[in-house]
This record gives sequence, C-alpha cells and structure tokens, in this order.
Amino acid sequence: MNTALSAASPRVVDLRSDTVTRPTAAMREAMMAAPVGDDVFADDPSINALQEKIAGMLGFEAALFVPTGTQSNLCGLMAHCERGDEFIVGQMAHAYRWEGGGAAVLGSIQPQPLSHAEDGTLPLSDIEAAIKPDDPHFARTRLLALENTWGGRLLPQTYLEAASALALKHGLARHLDGARLFNAAVVQAEHNGTDPRTEARRIAQCFDSVSVCFSKGLGAPFGSALCGSKALIARAHRVRKMVGGGMRQAGIMAAACSYALDHHIDRMADDHRRAQRLAHALQGIEGVTVVPPQTNMVFLRFSDALRSRASTLTQALEAQHILTLGRYEMRLVTHLDLDDAGIDRAAAAIRAHLTA
Ligand SMILES: *Cc1c(COP(=O)(O)O)cnc(C)c1O
Repeated sequence: MNTALSAASPRVVDLRSDTVTRPTAAMREAMMAAPVGDDVFADDPSINALQEKIAGMLGFEAALFVPTGTQSNLCGLMAHCERGDEFIVGQMAHAYRWEGGGAAVLGSIQPQPLSHAEDGTLPLSDIEAAIKPDDPHFARTRLLALENTWGGRLLPQTYLEAASALALKHGLARHLDGARLFNAAVVQAEHNGTDPRTEARRIAQCFDSVSVCFSKGLGAPFGSALCGSKALIARAHRVRKMVGGGMRQAGIMAAACSYALDHHIDRMADDHRRAQRLAHALQGIEGVTVVPPQTNMVFLRFSDALRSRASTLTQALEAQHILTLGRYEMRLVTHLDLDDAGIDRAAAAIRAHLTA
C-alpha cells in the first residue's frame, strides 16, 4: 500500500474496509467536549454513559467498553468458558480465524470450527452433531458463537432463534460477534418495516453476550463493547484487565462511539444503497460474478479465463487512487467516507481494466 494514498485525500476511493473512515467534524467536537475520569476506578462519566446506553439498547444488564472487537470477543469467550472447555464457531468466523487463536492461546479454550453454509449460517444439524457427550475423553462443549453479519450477509432471524433454542436445549451459552450488528439491524428493519434499534435488540436477545464494534460501519475511530448479564460482565472485566485493556481517560473515545450510536445507525442504509449501486454498475462483465450484496460488502468472483487480468486489478486501481483488497475474490466495502461519484468512478475503472 502506498501510504501517501491512505491520507485524507478526497481523491481516494477506499473500498478496502469500513474501518478506514475518519471521525467527522461533529464527532470530533463530541470527543473534545467529553467529560472524562479514570476508568480503572470506574470514574469516567463518558464511558459509564456509553456502557449504559449500549446495554440498554440491546436489552442487557451491563456492558464493558474495550479497545477492539478482538478483545471484546476474547473477554466474552473467556467469561463464558473455563480452561479445557470448547466453543462451536464458524470455520471463517472472525473469533476463530482472524484473532490470532487468542481463545486457545490465552484462554485454553478449544475451538470446534464448522463449515458455513452458502448463506453464512452453521447448519443446525452440524451444530448438534458437534456437541460432545459428557465423557472424560472430550472437551466440554460450552458455547455456541455466531457472527452477524457474516461476510456482509444477514443471518435470518428465524435461524438465530432456532440456533439459540438448540444451544439452550444442550446447555450451551450463546455469544454473538456483532461487529456489524447494526448493518444487520438496518437491513432487517427495512424488510420488516420497523426500526433498526428494534431489530438490533431482537437479534441481540437470542444471545447471552453480544460484541459490537464502533469502528466499522458506525464510523468511530476505535472501540467495541461487550454486553451481557452483570455477572458475565464482571468476569469479562477481570479478563480485560489481564490482557491489558484497562484504560484511563478513554471517555474521549467513548464519546465518539456514543455519537455514532446517536447519529450513524440510520445512515448505514446509504452504505447499503451504495453497495447495490456498485454491484449494479458491475453487472455483465464477462467472467465476473457479482455476489448480490445484502449489506455493505460487494464480492466479485473471477472466472479462470479472467484470473490473470484480475490479478493486476488492485494494482491498476491503486494507480487511480482506488483502494481494494483481494485477488481471486475481491471484497469491496462501502462506508460513510464514500459518495456516489466515488462509487461510479470505481465501477468504471474496474470495468475498464477487466474488459481491456
Ligand atoms: C473487525 C471485526 C472484529 C474485531 O476487529 P478489531 O479489529 O479487533 O476491532 C471482530 N469480528 C468481526 C466479524 C469483525 O469484522
């Protein structure tokens, strides 16, 4: 990556991730104005307010503010599981694949990964078959961890409810990696003619703990929250201290997250609309399959014949100040630092390169 390009240049169309957004002027003002204190003494009013706000929104007793989603998942997994326990998780789930094996390394928790169905779900029969009998040969299956959205896909509410009931029937705790929970909620609200907050709560209530990222589509520079019962959050708090996540006057950051909850949920519909616009503009290129986007991610798959051309796409786009990730399957992510003109410019450049 040419770092000069990643600076705040308005000419750059950055489709690598929804983590690349910069705080808006209004968000920075909220940060400047935030009352702060030492959160290790639970003295930071902005953090306390954020924790109460997100817990209340999602229908939990308590929440814990943490620097990253990785730490939030880790605190959740270690609060639910003891050493030698096992959690069932998706083969391509963030909490299994993209977190350095933290649950195993730091928690001595064994993952039992399962393949995802095409829609992102873990088939219920596979979950049931993976639950180990109570026998000293086996690790104790303790937790089911799901992710919504997964790969930009919305897991159906009926699936969440069925998976949740199955877990309860077998005495498993249920954790949701809801890094993009509000993207899911915004789409579900459109389908049901309801409000995103209502849907976020409905999704969250299928779980005993939920991790939410403020630094993805919500557009804050940093921060995640783990929500759960008071007892669970108390255990997670000890884990956060142990992994070095206790923070001091981080109310400056919590204020950005709180601002995002107040102002950036409903506007995610724009990101989803732009993903549709991008997918639409990329239709009909020979050898390219555009996976229809459900939220803010567009995936492009290339035919064998197009592979060598596609392998130079990222580089060719970078020369035009359009940033992307991926080679044989390209992921394009929309977010609040993009506009329609940028989307159209990216689509035209991708088409030009692949049809040259
Ligand atoms: C980004 C992400 C996380 C956490 O990421 P951090 O970079 O540690 O904040 C967790 N789960 C999913 C699904 C994510 O996309």
